[in-house]
Amino acid sequence: MLVVLTGGTGGAKLIEGLAAEIDPSELTIICNTGDDAIFHGLYVSPDIDTITYTLAGLSDSEKGWGIRGDTFTALEQLRRLGNDTWFNLGDKDLATHITRTKLLNEGLKLSAVTEHLRRQLRVRSRILPMSDQRIETRVKTPEGELSFQEFFVKQRWAPEVISVRFPGAEQAQPAPGVLDAIGNAQAIIVCPSNPITSIGPILAVPGIRAALEQTGAPVVGVSPMIGATAISGPAHKLMVAAGFDASVVGVAKCYREFLDTLLIAGEDCASAARIEALGVAPVASDIRMATQADKLRLAGEVLALVKK
Ligand code: GDP
Repeated sequence: MLVVLTGGTGGAKLIEGLAAEIDPSELTIICNTGDDAIFHGLYVSPDIDTITYTLAGLSDSEKGWGIRGDTFTALEQLRRLGNDTWFNLGDKDLATHITRTKLLNEGLKLSAVTEHLRRQLRVRSRILPMSDQRIETRVKTPEGELSFQEFFVKQRWAPEVISVRFPGAEQAQPAPGVLDAIGNAQAIIVCPSNPITSIGPILAVPGIRAALEQTGAPVVGVSPMIGATAISGPAHKLMVAAGFDASVVGVAKCYREFLDTLLIAGEDCASAARIEALGVAPVASDIRMATQADKLRLAGEVLALVKK
């Protein structure tokens, strides 16, 4: 059994490759829920949805979110009715959020709802939220504190970032199955996800970091950074705000206590000695996943490393 830690877009690309290279039922995916938010009264879990849609073959890989070919009729009507519609929600996507919200209102935990949704969509990998409790990533900017979606989508990650915090994390527990999955894993893969706002919230749930530090299984990561910038999105900006270098060395520092191997871009070879000095073995590769072939190749390389 392989355990994968992930956010949304970057993680989904690698997971698509992994699920094609091995039996998908051998994957347990632990997902960030710090980006979850309520829109129009509906509970939206963007990273869980991106991973579920990807594994169901439904994802819109061009946009990196949502369902391929989805329409936005309901959102347009919501806008006409005076609602704030800066967060895009497609018509089919809304069906997911309506179902999730209904089941949560009936008393099911997020983990049980996630399990129900993935089974309905015939996804064979197990998808676990990091926690059943609400942990909300908050981004402090000079104009005040924003939720992750307000920062990322509404403000297009333009504001200066002072700091990031995860209220609720200290009192939270890992969702059922998370610690067992890590404890029993043959290998653990840290996706090329944002180290601060995708993997950071997962590590902030009490017990998860310790379980990763204690495992005897190999832990392999893929860098989301090339040079001083993220391949997409604001990871570099958030890393600096959290006190890390905006570089692959900073990524290695985020994970050094539990990471054995880090796949880095060929362009970052000059950083290899600094990564090694942190106790992490760097392996240079082409870490960009622009095509399906890239996803399969990189997933194959990660699997070869964990099987070593
Ligand atoms: P989010 O919830 O959408 O932010 O999901 P992630 O954290 O999983 O994805 C964002 C991260 O993926 C960013 O830090 C990107 O740099 C990284 N990323 C996006 N595309 C690629 C890619 O093709 N290769 C690698 N290595 N990283 C990528």
